[in-house]
Amino acid sequence: MRISCVGAGPAGLYFAIVMKRRNPNHEIVVHERNPAGTTHGWGVVFWDDLLATLRTNDPDSAQAIADQAVPWSGQVVDVEGQPPLHYVDGGYGICRRRLLQILIERALALGVDVRFESEISALSQVADADLVVAADGVASRLRRHRADQFRPQIEAGRNKYIWLATTQPFPSFTFGFVPTRAGWIWFHAYSFKEGVSTFIVECAPETWDGLGLGAMRADAALKALESIFAKHLDGHGLMSRDGHGNTLPWLSFRTLVNRTWHADNVVLIGDAAHTTHFTIGSGTRLAIDDAVALASALSEHDSLPRALDAFGRRRQRALARVQRDARLSAEWFENLPRYIRYNAPTFFTLLLARRSRLLKRMPARTYLYLRRKYTKLTGSASSPLARIGGPAHRFGSKARRGLSGAESGTPCP
Ligand SMILES: Cc1cc2nc3c(=O)[nH]c(=O)nc-3n(C[C@H](O)[C@H](O)[C@H](O)COP(=O)(O)OP(=O)(O)OC[C@H]3O[C@@H](n4cnc5c(N)ncnc54)[C@H](O)[C@@H]3O)c2cc1C
Repeated sequence: MRISCVGAGPAGLYFAIVMKRRNPNHEIVVHERNPAGTTHGWGVVFWDDLLATLRTNDPDSAQAIADQAVPWSGQVVDVEGQPPLHYVDGGYGICRRRLLQILIERALALGVDVRFESEISALSQVADADLVVAADGVASRLRRHRADQFRPQIEAGRNKYIWLATTQPFPSFTFGFVPTRAGWIWFHAYSFKEGVSTFIVECAPETWDGLGLGAMRADAALKALESIFAKHLDGHGLMSRDGHGNTLPWLSFRTLVNRTWHADNVVLIGDAAHTTHFTIGSGTRLAIDDAVALASALSEHDSLPRALDAFGRRRQRALARVQRDARLSAEWFENLPRYIRYNAPTFFTLLLARRSRLLKRMPARTYLYLRRKYTKLTGSASSPLARIGGPAHRFGSKARRGLSGAESGTPCP
């Protein structure tokens, strides 16, 4: 089969790898508009489930990725003026650039033709392909060419965010919340390679406007953020990939769904097909899952339309719940004032339960009361209500003392 993949992100590259491993006779070209070695963003997090998928589908690249991943242990929530709390958890961080480099090297070794600075702006450029895989990200051009068939819907979130990095190590996944004269501003941080951590800053648009962050030149905005988060950065600076001299590239997260994922011989995968808010850290894993599912569907069905149909149905079903969770998580951060008035342990409990539909629909205090009652009645943290309410809590010993506060639902004075 002649395959053109548009986009050398995790989705396009991994699909090319899995297809070549299944059948080296496939002729696969990956087109990437950027030069080699350039990408957006810094480090991404993932968990053991992704490593398991990678090991099953390509042990070589799985090993290289595992070797480059940095483990982080525990989550920390640090609300200014209150003692930081810890939650027992663990995952990995990896530099996006390194992850892509590993996948590119592996794809090349398997005989994939990876072409950089090769922008595909019209389907006519890939007309000789039997299958065109649109792995060209959330702003997919190929999707726009067939918008009447894919029927995409894009919803922009309210909050502003920016994906920065710092040399300050964050060995735990850390959320830091700081009050300012214009409202709360916070960061999500974790180490992803030695000496570098992702540092995503988020705030409500009113705070962003009130602090003038959108109007400041990049260097001034970085200085302002360094000053706001001085306690957490401990003298380390913030870095941005873009916006030197000009303003920083602040964004509002775009949640994308498509009515269908294929049109004729063009199929969407990864962020071109769907996005999930960064606060659930799943986009890369979902892109890899899409790649594997598409390769499987193609080997299970002789006819291309049937394979694409099966792929679309399978993945849309799998995505529905994750996208719902991601929306709830994004909305939780958009409604921060509802939760941050509680003391730190309660706030942390609510933060961990941010994917709960119940929490969205009722006052936080009622939610906590119900959750406590159900857990007591069933004697299990994995009762249906506790599941709806988010993961079972595994607070570390420091937080145990705060657990009674977490259960009481007491607002801060
Ligand atoms: C702030 C933030 C934090 C995140 N953190 C995490 C995290 O911790 N964990 C996680 O799993 N996910 C995370 N994600 C999501 C993750 O980055 C994406 O879901 C993932 O990169 C999607 O992979 P992809 O291959 O579909 O798209 P992309 O990675 O966007 O790759 C698309 C590629 O296509 C290329 N391209 C675009 N148009 C064309 C064209 N016309 N011709 C040729 N090439 C083209 C682009 O240059 C790009 O290289 C985060 C996202 C954001 C915004």
